[in-house]
Amino acid sequence: MNPFQYTRSAAAAGAIQSVLKEPHAHFLAGGTNLVDLMKMGVVLPERLVDINGLPLKGIEKTPTGLRIGALATNSAVADHPLVLEGYPLLSLAINAGASPQLRNMATVGGNMMQRTRCNYFFDTAMPCNKRVPGSGCGALTGINRMHALFGASDQCIAVNPSDMNVAMMALDAVVHVRGPNGERKIKFADFHRLPGDHPEKDNTLERGELITAVDLPAAAMAFNKHVYYLKIRDRSSYAFALVSVAAALNMIGSTITDARLAMGGVAHKPWRLQDAETFLKGKTADEDTFKQAAAIAMKGAKAYKYNQFKLTLAPNAIVQALKTASA
Ligand code: SF4
Repeated sequence: MNPFQYTRSAAAAGAIQSVLKEPHAHFLAGGTNLVDLMKMGVVLPERLVDINGLPLKGIEKTPTGLRIGALATNSAVADHPLVLEGYPLLSLAINAGASPQLRNMATVGGNMMQRTRCNYFFDTAMPCNKRVPGSGCGALTGINRMHALFGASDQCIAVNPSDMNVAMMALDAVVHVRGPNGERKIKFADFHRLPGDHPEKDNTLERGELITAVDLPAAAMAFNKHVYYLKIRDRSSYAFALVSVAAALNMIGSTITDARLAMGGVAHKPWRLQDAETFLKGKTADEDTFKQAAAIAMKGAKAYKYNQFKLTLAPNAIVQALKTASA
């Protein structure tokens, strides 16, 4: 591991100023991803600014919904009574990720910032535009079975690895950030980005900006009954999704009155399925409806040499998630 400076900060303003001092400085929260990347030489920070002393662990009701501090751990969020009662989809998604030990350390902000698990990104002997811009993409012609179906570019076909992000996307979360120019809010849908010509940028944060909280809107509490998070992976725990589906329905009898649907493991960002959501409204919750919704959701999907199987796996996962959510 390369030498680096370590700074602890007890105030957001100080932490932001410390990060701005070095071009390759990082905030350090749970460290469950960043420290791994440092050990492998994928990320070489000159300075780590430890933000664990900031008062950002709270989970509390607000007039517009629920506010979750950026330093709340994944397990604290998944187990919180207000989350279980109002936003059970988020709890299901978080608990599908990693292991209990990791969820006890990992934070909400850190989960949002975690990097792709593309093998070529981790292997510093291989080309990777995300790790070294302009070096090429090892996955394009390599082993790409974990890679994207939607929104990829000829620069990068990696996927966002988070389960939590998929539920946050479906629930219309809003991200609060603070930076050198003050505070701003970012819709969760706009927080992560597609690779385009700059796959080195995972998100829309500006330099020095710190995630302080995530808001879940009160409107999303309507989806607290018919929900399911289905994660398909190579082994039953402690593995990243090949495909995952966050499904939430509002129903009167067997009629769907509203729907939220998002996928993980298929794009550089959590992938919202809004056309399928629109289709589901007013329909009867049955297998035929779900298959039609899945077909709509898969429009525009493009597979590579080794992830062709996802073209079948993904729609089947959508149907299964909707079936379970509606039951
Ligand atoms: Fe790197 Fe993206 Fe290509 Fe993977 S898919 S090797 S992360 S550029």
